[in-house]
Amino acid sequence: MAQTLLDKVWEAHAVRTLPSGQTQLFIGLHLVHEVTTPQAFSMLKELGLPVRMPERTFGTLDHIVPTTSQQRPYGDPLAEEMAVHMLRNAKDFGVPLFDVDSGRQGIVHVIGPELGLSQPGMTIACGDSHTATHGALGAIAFGIGTSQVRDVLATQCLAMAKPRLRQVRVEGALAPGVYAKDVILTIIRRLGVKGGVGYAYEYAGPVIERMTMEERLTVCNMSIEGGARFGYVGPDQTTFDYVKGRPYAPDGGAFDRAVTWWKAVATDAGASFDDVARIDGSTIAPVVTWGINPGQSVGVGERIPAPEAAPEDERATLREALAFMGFEAGQPITGTKIDVAFIGSCTNSRLSDLRAAAEVARRGKVAKGVRALVVPGSQGVAQAAEKEGLHELFRAAGFEWRKAGCSMCLGMNDDKLRGREVCASSSNRNFIGRQGSPHGRTLLMSPAMVAAAAIAGAIADVREVVR
Ligand code: SF4
Repeated sequence: MAQTLLDKVWEAHAVRTLPSGQTQLFIGLHLVHEVTTPQAFSMLKELGLPVRMPERTFGTLDHIVPTTSQQRPYGDPLAEEMAVHMLRNAKDFGVPLFDVDSGRQGIVHVIGPELGLSQPGMTIACGDSHTATHGALGAIAFGIGTSQVRDVLATQCLAMAKPRLRQVRVEGALAPGVYAKDVILTIIRRLGVKGGVGYAYEYAGPVIERMTMEERLTVCNMSIEGGARFGYVGPDQTTFDYVKGRPYAPDGGAFDRAVTWWKAVATDAGASFDDVARIDGSTIAPVVTWGINPGQSVGVGERIPAPEAAPEDERATLREALAFMGFEAGQPITGTKIDVAFIGSCTNSRLSDLRAAAEVARRGKVAKGVRALVVPGSQGVAQAAEKEGLHELFRAAGFEWRKAGCSMCLGMNDDKLRGREVCASSSNRNFIGRQGSPHGRTLLMSPAMVAAAAIAGAIADVREVVR
């Protein structure tokens, strides 16, 4: 019988069915970082348990790391304390850690694929909501809570209910100036921020098939913002080419054997899904969020919608979003003044993201009064970008070139919005307070659109900058 990748990977990792009906699932790769692990490691210490499979557990420092200087001790005592705990726990439990001296440190969802740790056919868990990123490689990858981090550390297994599966097909072709970020923001807008609850998403169709791995990572990254615990893309030649030669990838004959297995886990022709959603890629424009969740977005040429035009049960949220953002219904999003431009985060901080933004940045200078940050997702990305001279290009245009970390994606380090600042951001969440100020306002968009906004000082259509 034809099976989906979800069926095959789930079956391959199922230890047994639990009395609750959940599956005890073996976890192939456990990624850990400083924020969601201190308590989990403490619980292991209290129970006198070791990490069950340290060879399948890898750590990094990302959320709290300052991006100006990574010299220890960090200025923020809380950040320093978290770093100390992470370093000590990694040492005590024999877990490899990519700290800032390793040359491999970075955002957990950037370094996993970059180092070849994340591979097709795997189950991957991490105490972070955006773990679905790794699904781009054809893996089942999901975020877990602190008590589940403890469970995986102690047993390398997790109790999970298998979700239903929706195939999200993006048909046709994208127009120039439209990026992977626009694709996923459009999927979330059309299917809703809760549309994926209870589902996993299999992204497919010609637009997804043509995407590079870095573009697929952007799409899968935001699965959770559409309510899906995880999302994936079937492994294909793009995947194999991406994985080959990376530090933790199999090599030689082992790589060839792995490719045979990776091909076998792809969804079979004729497999059935619980639901199929179709989006015409040619209808997608550069997208900007105007509200307080990633589904509240418009194409850059559109106007902010009126609550009255929405179904009754959505109007209160739309009114709250308008009031918080200080927007009027019917107002065009283009021309909205910005104070800050942020290019970074596990959604859009890879080399191709920086290249796309640089392509825009080299055509102008950051507008007066705009604070503009470029934060590579990893030390590896930073090194590659610097080799191409992108750091100099950004600096010449008036952007700050920072060190790797989560930075202004969330307010857990020194990079924060102040007061009511408006930020054009390539990150993934525009929730109230997300970027460190309880009153700060976040507009999500692609890195190229952020660069265009930085130069214009206001939301602008990147297609008019890069023709
Ligand atoms: S970049 Fe943002 S979303 Fe990604 S792991 Fe860091 S804080 Fe989480």
